[in-house]
Amino acid sequence: MGWLSDIYCGQCGFKQPRFLPLHREAYVLPTGEITPLPFQVAWCGRCRVVVRAEYPADALRRVADEQEARLDPADTGRYTARRRAECGVLRRVAADRTAPPRCLECGSTGIVGFGPWEWEAEVVHPGCGGALRFPRTAHCSPVFPAAYRANSPEGEDLGREVARDLGQDEAVEHVRAADGGPT
Ligand SMILES: [Zn+2]
Ligand SMILES: [Zn+2]
Repeated sequence: MGWLSDIYCGQCGFKQPRFLPLHREAYVLPTGEITPLPFQVAWCGRCRVVVRAEYPADALRRVADEQEARLDPADTGRYTARRRAECGVLRRVAADRTAPPRCLECGSTGIVGFGPWEWEAEVVHPGCGGALRFPRTAHCSPVFPAAYRANSPEGEDLGREVARDLGQDEAVEHVRAADGGPT
């Protein structure tokens, strides 16, 4: 079960209904190696809304380390081996990255990152100074995804999709809002 958020600003009246932070992209290296693209929540100056955005390289390296630390070192199964390899690919993306992080909706680098997604968070609304809030608004039910949007290690949309093997912790991508019926 997941949640949607009706984001709002207590100062300027900004409203953004039904924000849903889901993984949709992967970094695809020129070698063809793939790793899921971890996102942060951000304000995009071009989209003028809250978006999912890339992490900067140093944070990306930390995300890779944290993900790998959660894997059981004694587990030699295929799933864990794949996750470990993906963490290695993510570290290479971080090491080679030159472009600043981009908005995953429009590709702009004019973003203000808020860090990892947190429900009930309160952050400063860029350009306004008010408090942007992310309440839990509605339930939604996850549907298993079939593909990632492919991004280059520099964050460019490659205009194609790549198949994803479903892992046990990767169930949430496409969802239907329980309050609004199928979308
Ligand atoms: Zn505001
Ligand atoms: Zn944008």
